[in-house]
Amino acid sequence: MFIKENLHKIKTNIPANVELVAVSKTKPVSDILEAYKAGQRAFGENKIQEMAKKYEELPKDIQWHMIGHLQRNKVKYMAHFVHLIHGVDSFKTLKEINKQALKHNRVINCLLQLKIAKEDTKFGLSITDVNDIITSEDFASLKNINIKGLMGMASFTEDKSIIRAEFNMLNAFFVELKKVSSFNLNPSILSMGMSGDYKIAIEAGSNMIRVGSLIFGKRNYT
Ligand SMILES: *Cc1c(COP(=O)(O)O)cnc(C)c1O
Repeated sequence: MFIKENLHKIKTNIPANVELVAVSKTKPVSDILEAYKAGQRAFGENKIQEMAKKYEELPKDIQWHMIGHLQRNKVKYMAHFVHLIHGVDSFKTLKEINKQALKHNRVINCLLQLKIAKEDTKFGLSITDVNDIITSEDFASLKNINIKGLMGMASFTEDKSIIRAEFNMLNAFFVELKKVSSFNLNPSILSMGMSGDYKIAIEAGSNMIRVGSLIFGKRNYT
């Protein structure tokens, strides 16, 4: 029962332009259904096969967000249904997504993940990497992907000033990127903020937050 209340509490406290992705990784389909019945449609998972299994079992109007690190050989398991891939952190992966999307005759929306945290455990591209990708000839040939914006994860720290600085940095690049556009590059989404830092993220310009434990409760494993 608490899922519905938690969702409501978050939704009434965020601006209307900010989309809430409910991160349901490791949680059972019964939990997802409870959120679904409360009106939630966007769900985030970090493992492709877990997401594909849940997709099979759950209502088909759910929008599935892949927020985790991507293994290229598994992209094929979600290419027919994924709504938005947040964690694109290499050109190779982007090309694989394009290839699998083509097989299903669809265009897959993607976000490029930037490494904004100092920690080695976090994946992501540098600003130079992004600029290299979007200006390359190869990129112009990718007709089955659409880059809709950027995603980032702040450092795991109690120090809010560090988190704020990292989010501000990502937003500054997002503002620059929005000045560029092409048929497969249409930046409008800035995905940043989780249970612990989504308020700071929104203040720093986020318009998509990925919230798990604050909705579904603590996870026993990641
Ligand atoms: C797990 C996860 C989240 C949600 O984390 P919470 O702290 O439970 O809100 C958000 N983004 C990514 C990339 C994640 O892996």
